Amino acid sequence: MTTYFWFRRDLRLEDNIGLTEALKTSDNVQCIFIFDENIILELPNDDHRITFIYDELSKLNEQLKSHNSSLRIEIGKPAEVWKKIIDEEKVQAIFTNKDYEPYARKRDGAIRDLADKNNVKFHRFKDQVIFEENEVVKDDGDPYTVYTPFKNKWLKTFNPEEFKPVSIDSVTNNFAKSTFDFPSLKTIGFERSSIKVKPYTLEDLEDYKDVRDLPFEDATSYLSPHLRFGTIGIRSLVNSVKGRSEVFLSELIWREFFMQILYHFPKVVDNSFRSKYDRIQWRNNETEFEKWCNGQTGYPMVDAGMRQLNETGYMHNRVRMVVASFLCKHLLIDWRWGEAYFAQKLFDYDLSANNGNWQWAAGTGCDAAPYFRVFNPESQLKKFDPKLNYIRKWVKDFDELTYPEPMVEHKMARERALETYKSALN
Ligand code: FAD
Repeated sequence: MTTYFWFRRDLRLEDNIGLTEALKTSDNVQCIFIFDENIILELPNDDHRITFIYDELSKLNEQLKSHNSSLRIEIGKPAEVWKKIIDEEKVQAIFTNKDYEPYARKRDGAIRDLADKNNVKFHRFKDQVIFEENEVVKDDGDPYTVYTPFKNKWLKTFNPEEFKPVSIDSVTNNFAKSTFDFPSLKTIGFERSSIKVKPYTLEDLEDYKDVRDLPFEDATSYLSPHLRFGTIGIRSLVNSVKGRSEVFLSELIWREFFMQILYHFPKVVDNSFRSKYDRIQWRNNETEFEKWCNGQTGYPMVDAGMRQLNETGYMHNRVRMVVASFLCKHLLIDWRWGEAYFAQKLFDYDLSANNGNWQWAAGTGCDAAPYFRVFNPESQLKKFDPKLNYIRKWVKDFDELTYPEPMVEHKMARERALETYKSALN
C-alpha cells in the first residue's frame, strides 16, 4: 500500500509538517506534485512562477533520488488525477498541508470526499503559518478585523518552544523506492522565463526597521516568493529571526493577519471588505489603466514601481502602496483591476496578501485609517527616494524630454477621489 505526500505550496523536504507526519506513519511514502490545469491553463507560456516551481521541483526530485525515491509529477485536474491513481493503485492515505484559499478549500473538500468513498485516509496539516483559522481570535471567538489587536494577541499566544522546525532525518528510509521520470518544462506546456526569483536574505535584520521603507536601499528580505511557494518553512524562519527585529516579525504577522481575513471573510475575493464601498463609481478608463500598467503616468515613483514589476516580477512594498493608491484614488480605477494586474505579474502573488493590501490601499478593506488618506506621489518620492536613486534605476528615460508629463494633476485628482468616495458612502 502506498501513502502519498502531495506537495502544493510547501516545496521543501525540511521543516515540512505534512511530509514529516507521512514519513512517521508509513514506510512507503511517495511524493507527488500536480500541475493543476484549473490554474495553469490560465497562465502565459513563459509564466515566471511556473519556471520557479519547476526548478524547485527539480531540486526536490534530486533530493528524493538521494533517498532512492523520486517525485511523481502529474498534469491535470486534481480530482481527476487522484481518481485515476486511486482506481489504479492501492492507496492507503494522502497526506498534505493545508491551503486556506477558497479555491484550495473547495478542491480539498472534493478530494476528501473521493478519498472517503474509497477508504483512503486524507490528512491535512497546518504548515504555512504559525497560527491558522480560529487560533488567534477575540476573547468572544470572533475574528479580528483590525491588525494591531490581532498582532498583540498573536504575540501573546506565541511560544517559540512550540514551533521548533521539524526534520525528516530519522525517517528518510520510509520514502517509497521509485524512479518516476521527471518531465521537461515543455511537456508541462511551458517555456523557461528569463525572470528569476532572487534568493532571500536574513542578514542585517537589525537595521531592517530603519531601511525597509527606502526602495533605493533594496534592504528587505526578498522572502515573499519563498514563503509563497514554501521553499522556506515558517517555523525555521521565525526561529532564525526571533529577537532580532520586532518590526520584521510584525511584517510576518501582517501576512497571517490577511490570511485569516481571507479565511473568515472569503467574500473579499470579489467584494469590498466594507460593503458600502462597493457603491463607489469607478471611472475605469482603459487608456489610463494601460498607462499605469506600462509605467507611463508621468509620476516617477509610480512609473519606477510598475517598470520594476514588469521587468522583475517584484516591487518594493513602499512603492506598491504608492502605485496602488495612485490607481484607486488618482485615477479612480477599481482596486480589482490593479489586484488582477499584480496577480499576473508578481512572483510573490498571494491571494490573501494581495487582496488585503489592495483593499487597504483603496480604503475599502479592514483598515482603521479613513479613505481620505490619499498618498501624494511627489511627497512620497521626496521622503523615500530623495536622491532619485530608485527612480533612475527603473525609469531610464527620466531625464529625457520624451518622459511623459504627469497624466493627472494631483490636487484635482485628490479632490475628485474624495468627492467620489463621499458620495458613495452617503
Ligand atoms: P520584507 O519587508 O522583507 O517582509 C518579510 C515578509 O513579511 C514578506 O516576505 C511577506 O511575507 C511579509 N509581509 C511584509 N509586508 C507585508 C504586507 N504588507 N502584507 C502581508 N505580508 C507582508 N505580499 C505578498 O507576499 N504577496 C502579494 O501578492 C502582495 N501583494 C501586495 C499588494 C500591494 C498593493 C501591497 C501594498 C503589498 C503587497 N504585498 C504582497 C506585501 C508586501 O509588499 C510584500 O510582501 C513585500 O514587499 C515582499 O518583499 P520582502 O519579502 O522583501 O518583504
